[in-house]
Amino acid sequence: MIKRTPSVLLIYTGGTIGMIENPLTGVLDVFDFDHLLDEIPELKRFDYRIATYQFDPPIDSSDMEPTNWAKLVRIINYNYRRYDGFVILHGTDTMAYTASALSFMLENLTKPVILTGSQLPIDTLRTDGKENLITAIEIAAAQHADGTALVPEVCIFFENHLMRGNRTSKINAEHFNAFRSFNYPPLARAGVHIRYDEHLILHPDPMLLKPHYRLSTQVAVITLFPGIQESIVNAVLALPDIRAVVLKTYGSGNAPRKEWLMRRLGEASERDIVIVNVTQCSSGQVQMERYKTGVQLQSVGVVSGHDSTPEAAITKLMFLLGQGYSTEEVRRLMHVSLAGEITT
Ligand code: ASP
Repeated sequence: MIKRTPSVLLIYTGGTIGMIENPLTGVLDVFDFDHLLDEIPELKRFDYRIATYQFDPPIDSSDMEPTNWAKLVRIINYNYRRYDGFVILHGTDTMAYTASALSFMLENLTKPVILTGSQLPIDTLRTDGKENLITAIEIAAAQHADGTALVPEVCIFFENHLMRGNRTSKINAEHFNAFRSFNYPPLARAGVHIRYDEHLILHPDPMLLKPHYRLSTQVAVITLFPGIQESIVNAVLALPDIRAVVLKTYGSGNAPRKEWLMRRLGEASERDIVIVNVTQCSSGQVQMERYKTGVQLQSVGVVSGHDSTPEAAITKLMFLLGQGYSTEEVRRLMHVSLAGEITT
């Protein structure tokens, strides 16, 4: 049997990995992709067909927008049959949002889409970028003996850990292990060998990719804190075009027992605003039935975000509203795992 050459499309959006330091100001600025490739001659040693696509201009991920996510979906959809897998080089700041959004927008995904980046630019001596990129490419090309992808999911690979993208948050602005998936174990660990934990990986039926491009931005986040004022909550809930709010609560989904808060949330729910309860804790899940301070939220129509990351909850709402689902359908689908983003 003829051995097929694995193929990977490397998409460079920007981020520290490709930045260089301005010698005059010391500020990191985006650089172009050719520079990046020059810095990693190791890529030529791969026995793979590696093609590249560059965002022009590359962007700091703080400038990521839903239109950029749609552009990524378009690039992947257009090239879907030509490559075994996709690696997206992305700034770390909003990587978890992009990974979450893509996991919903790429329905029926059967190929790997691996996001990675670095904390230090690629031309820095101690860069973490080379190892991240090289291993991400290997994972994107990895296949079972029958030719199906080992990891048919949107993932983040960072500092030796392959994590489900929509379970991941950026937790460190300094260390190389910048990402964590608190509520779901890593899908693989890279050491001398890349060890995949197959039973944790999604196993989709072979289906046609269904790309989605529309997202709604009529969403907001309210973070509770002791002393939060009615005027603040009301300012958000009274916005004319708001459709959904992620309410970041305490512990297992609790909120202060204030009459005005329950009244405002109840009125908003009745006006068809979807309010989703996500805990401020990094780990664990919302269980509103556990304390009176949670039960009251349930009684005014607040929906559980389960063990969702804030990034996954926000982008899932953007996705569901963008697809035109009714308020009731959005509420129902927040309880359904669409791409492994919650434990049900
Ligand atoms: N500001 C950069 C970005 O997110 C940081 C990084 O890439 O690590 O684009």
